[in-house]
Amino acid sequence: MRVNWREINAARNSYACLFAACSLHGFTLRPVKSPGSEITCYSLNSLNEPRFRKEIREASCTTVVGGPHATACPREVARYADYVVVGEGESTLPRLLARLEEGAEGPVPGVVTRDGGLPADHSVLLDGFPPFTVMKGYIEISRGCPFGCAFCQTPRIFGFAMRHRSIDAIATYARRYRDVRLVSPNALAYGSDGRRPRLDRVERLLTSLEGNIYFGTFPNEVRPEFVSDEALGLIARYCSNTRVAFGIQSGSDRVLAGIGRGHTVADGVRAVELCRDQGLTPVVDLILGFPFETGEDEEATLRLIRWVTRSGRVRLHSFIPLPGTPLAGTSPRPVSPAADRLLGRLALDGKLTGSWRDPGKRFSMVPADTPL
Ligand code: SF4
Repeated sequence: MRVNWREINAARNSYACLFAACSLHGFTLRPVKSPGSEITCYSLNSLNEPRFRKEIREASCTTVVGGPHATACPREVARYADYVVVGEGESTLPRLLARLEEGAEGPVPGVVTRDGGLPADHSVLLDGFPPFTVMKGYIEISRGCPFGCAFCQTPRIFGFAMRHRSIDAIATYARRYRDVRLVSPNALAYGSDGRRPRLDRVERLLTSLEGNIYFGTFPNEVRPEFVSDEALGLIARYCSNTRVAFGIQSGSDRVLAGIGRGHTVADGVRAVELCRDQGLTPVVDLILGFPFETGEDEEATLRLIRWVTRSGRVRLHSFIPLPGTPLAGTSPRPVSPAADRLLGRLALDGKLTGSWRDPGKRFSMVPADTPL
């Protein structure tokens, strides 16, 4: 049976890990630039999904769609795709492919069709699947997040419990790279329950890796309240990055409380100062345009941006109401013209980057896409 994988830039990491998972069951996902014969698989996020809807609806082959958007809106996607994989795909996709190859009837857990579907009956143990094989990708070290930030799909796709790949497995795959880049929703939470850092385990991980290690920076940013002298000391001692990236998300405590962020602006300010004191450059993610943001909240975020950019960088995004999140269906508040002018000036000075003028770009930068 021929199984194709529709090449989509934003889904490169999903391809690497699903290629590996499907290979274990004898299926090779062949890359294609348009729907191929027999079966074609897609992984879509909520920004690129409209671009592929027509192609999938008109495809003459069997279509299988997964990814963050399919997970958030499976019934909507099942109106134009034959099969929708909801959530993690490492087990579900090969199971579905085996069922299609046998020509057997009946629902597969974790798969939705026009006729309905069953919820997934498992969650993936990371050590049970290679992060990549011949199709190389980043090494995902942790999955799931106990925080429920109202704008974020991650815990709604992967669950609120954090799972980790073992140090031995990570070290094995890391040997295939000179520059070791890891994927995690919060790298400094490695080995922990996601809320209380276990820096002893972070240190064991870092000392077991060879090559140039990039930790606490793209694509494994951290949460600001996990930034401590001890944590930064580990990064300075064992890693090659001179930047540490974390999200503060807003300069307003009122907004942070409204999105259930679980930290304050003061936590973020402290993290910036600690980085600066250790000679590391802080790179701070912020979002403008939450639906309940006021002019005062926007001004507070702009003040924070001005302050951070004195010693570090800001990556600024505009709020996107993603399906499957508590803020789905809300309307972003437009960024004021005065703010836009200030942000433009900072961007020209090289102190600020991001997608506040083009929200779609944010998705093409995110490698930690959902495995189907
Ligand atoms: S933004 Fe980060 S901390 Fe918040 S829910 Fe998403 S992954 Fe977790």
